[in-house]
Amino acid sequence: MWFQEADRIIIAPIGKIQWWLLQEVSEVLAEAFPLPASIIDPLPFPYELVVRDREQIKASDLINLLADLGLNGLVSGIIDYDIFAPGLEHLFGEADPVEGISVVSIARFREEFFGRGQDQSLLRDRLVKEALHEMGHLYSLRHCPQKTCIMHFSGDVEVTDQKRESFCPDCRGTLKEVTDGGYQTF
Ligand SMILES: [Zn+2]
Ligand SMILES: [Zn+2]
Repeated sequence: MWFQEADRIIIAPIGKIQWWLLQEVSEVLAEAFPLPASIIDPLPFPYELVVRDREQIKASDLINLLADLGLNGLVSGIIDYDIFAPGLEHLFGEADPVEGISVVSIARFREEFFGRGQDQSLLRDRLVKEALHEMGHLYSLRHCPQKTCIMHFSGDVEVTDQKRESFCPDCRGTLKEVTDGGYQTF
């Protein structure tokens, strides 16, 4: 559904995701957008969607999976498995504004992925930023040239780490327009 029709945000874990991370996403999204957010029970991990020779799942397959559930709200799907789109080696997330569904992978947000020591705080920040970014797309926002804006495109955690956990004045202005001022600044 389009964001204008939605009355809530739904955090949908796909497979097992740590509860505290889901709560962080839920709190940040509920604060950033003029809708309440809730977390639903985790979906079973969709092993049948894994592309074996890449050990990845196509992001659009996950969006279709979530669309089939017919959830009544804007969906922020979260999976702990690497995702991709045709022509791209990997993705952090994808959004379908017509369906009102987004998905984020946390696989590459872990410092361990790069052979470095665990950092829960960085993991949390990267996930929250990407979930905000994809939800921004559901609210019709496009990519933003400002490097610190949450709507700046990122395919590298270094780029994500430079972003703030907020929208730049231009993107905030667009959000205010499309939500008739219902968007909360933070
Ligand atoms: Zn984007
Ligand atoms: Zn911006």
